[in-house]
Amino acid sequence: MARRRQIYEGKAKILYEGPEPGTLIQYFKDDATAFNAQKRGTINGKGVLNNRISEHVFTLLGHIGVPTHFIRRLNMREQLVRQVEIVPIEVVVRNVAAGSISQRLGIEEGTPLPRTLIEYYYKDDALGDPLISEEHIACFNWCSQDELNDMQDLAIRVNDFLCGMFAGVGIRLVDFKMEFGRLWDGDWSRIILADEISPDGCRLWDMATNEKLDKDRFRRDLGGEVEAYQEVARRLGLLPEDGNNAVLDLESHRKKKGS
Ligand code: UDP
Repeated sequence: MARRRQIYEGKAKILYEGPEPGTLIQYFKDDATAFNAQKRGTINGKGVLNNRISEHVFTLLGHIGVPTHFIRRLNMREQLVRQVEIVPIEVVVRNVAAGSISQRLGIEEGTPLPRTLIEYYYKDDALGDPLISEEHIACFNWCSQDELNDMQDLAIRVNDFLCGMFAGVGIRLVDFKMEFGRLWDGDWSRIILADEISPDGCRLWDMATNEKLDKDRFRRDLGGEVEAYQEVARRLGLLPEDGNNAVLDLESHRKKKGS
């Protein structure tokens, strides 16, 4: 028996070689990092919840015609995805001021933005993912103008869809981060949504109370991060109403049985 080949290990996920050429297995860890990995910790069961939440979001986005790398969920912590060449840009969409924009521009957290804002950050841990402009992207050729147009169009469509989806369950989508990849077909490539969409990379506030239901609970030492991620999954209908811990209990049960 040969052990499957690890392609990459990131802060919250591991990528393994997939069963067929052009596929990868994306494994969701419980590890949490913040402030460019200066703060590290574990959120028990986070990987299971993010795998499930991201599956749900990517499946629904697929239904409205947004191309994504998601193929199918394989088990509690793994999903099969298409192999792409990741564009080295983090695309952040903001509806409400929070986090770095509030700090940088002195806008009070929670202030609705006059229009949806798209920001770009250069994916480079050593540099701390610096904020960049379209000019930088063009100057250093991190992607083509056509690819940037595609990413902008997709970002707006994803934001519109997610705002509605979360509003339907009483959650405000304050901001979120996306990563895109090039899917190659011979000499041609097209841009598709990659990575994950989960409370790790979104700011999600309860609409009634403004309670934070995302990784800010970890970043800001608020506690209750497991419960917050579970609450998002529960509201999206991914956990039974009467058994918040069902997914996590199932995983520990399977581990004990060795399956
Ligand atoms: N974000 C992310 N990964 C990053 C940086 C930001 O997923 O490396 C997400 C973050 O969770 C938030 C949004 O992008 O939903 C905007 O983050 P911000 O620029 O405010 O950065 P922060 O101050 O949270 O690091």
